[in-house]
Amino acid sequence: MVFSGLAEKLQETFRRLKGKGRLTEADVDEAMKEVKRALLGADVNFQVVKKFVQRVKERAIGQDILDSLTPGQQVIKIVRDELAALMGGTQSKINVSPKPPTLVMLVGLHGAGKTTSAAKLANTLRKTGRRPLLVAGDVYRPAAIKQLQVLGQQLDVPVFSMGDRQSPVDIARAAVEHAVGTGRDLVIIDTAGRLQIDQEMMDELAAIKAAVHPHEILLVVDAMTGQVAVNVAEAFNSRLGLDGVILTKLDGDARGGAALSMKAVTGCPVKFAGVGEKLDALEPFHPDRMADRILGMGDVLTLIEKAQASFDADQVAKLNQKIKNVEFTLDDFLEQLQEVRKLGPIQQIIGMIPGLGSMKKMKELGDIDDKELVYVEAIIKSMTPWERNRPHEINGSRRRRIARGSGTSVQQVNSVLKQFEQTKKMMRQFSEMGKSMKKGGRVP
Ligand code: GDP
Repeated sequence: MVFSGLAEKLQETFRRLKGKGRLTEADVDEAMKEVKRALLGADVNFQVVKKFVQRVKERAIGQDILDSLTPGQQVIKIVRDELAALMGGTQSKINVSPKPPTLVMLVGLHGAGKTTSAAKLANTLRKTGRRPLLVAGDVYRPAAIKQLQVLGQQLDVPVFSMGDRQSPVDIARAAVEHAVGTGRDLVIIDTAGRLQIDQEMMDELAAIKAAVHPHEILLVVDAMTGQVAVNVAEAFNSRLGLDGVILTKLDGDARGGAALSMKAVTGCPVKFAGVGEKLDALEPFHPDRMADRILGMGDVLTLIEKAQASFDADQVAKLNQKIKNVEFTLDDFLEQLQEVRKLGPIQQIIGMIPGLGSMKKMKELGDIDDKELVYVEAIIKSMTPWERNRPHEINGSRRRRIARGSGTSVQQVNSVLKQFEQTKKMMRQFSEMGKSMKKGGRVP
């Protein structure tokens, strides 16, 4: 999970800080040293880290925070706010033209995830009511044109192509005309990449820009390359003027340095994050929610949005009722595991649940992967209906029988039952949280 290393270190630092009744300047200094180390360890730009820590320190010591009743909490709040500000404060949306179509041009190096992101973006924005047209502008790689056509077909989004014999500038112009003629209000242009930044590529992109005047130029960069991604963004920005960044492969980047430094170093906000290879694995980037995730406060809003998009209302209502009546059984557990998987990899989901972001808990709970799900299913199916409704009454001899029946070990059976109990507890917390949210209370 992105930020997992940073999250673990910061949460550990702040747990100690919260544990102290009163704070001195020396305590804050010590904590900030740890924050600095953690940020540098996450591959955040050195200058950015220095300024960040200085700002937090000034705010923490300058105000009456140390004399307040909850100094630890308040220092954490300052760090949270500053982390969010570092990443751009609130969500930056793409520029939409008042007169359709809106033109979005994607640029970036080869392999960054440009073509995939073009399709993901079409998919995401289509859900908000847009009618996208994908444009195959990478004429140097016939495979890229084919790739975009295949992705477009999967999504049922039209792809405009003129093969690989026309200039990208002519293609872009013709695509805009085509969009106007066919009532498409969003044109997403995939452009050619190179292995590294070169003059020819930049000239060509500048020529496309001059010809069609895109409303939004988005750079697609690979988060796993860390500070290199930030340098690439600086180079593109100075030549082309970027409106924002799509940070891909955030699912594979445990450190998160690019996400944390991008805005501060280049001035370009991250607008979307790629979190997987599938076409629905693109999230609008919310700096404030990211900051919450890093500090283990969860990200209930994103989780709810994902759940709303994936589950039907009946299912949610049925489940809510069961949780309320504490009827949640092992059958429901299995069904839930399968459902939750639709939201994305379990490790990503857990990071969004308040209080579960910390690594220790994640290790206990998050060890459910695809393969393990097969065992979980086998174990639950080897239980009698009576057992499935009364998991707490499954004694040693029953556990041995279930293990034999499912071809697993007693330890695995124990682990499934433990995970079930933890999920049940978590669901109860969720239901409490839902109630307090409805009352307008704060999420704990
Ligand atoms: P392009 O050369 O920039 O057009 O790159 P592609 O779109 O062909 O992507 C290169 C590889 O990165 C492909 O295997 C994609 O599936 C993969 N990829 C793109 N975005 C993501 C992402 O957010 N997460 C992960 N895990 N893989 C990604």
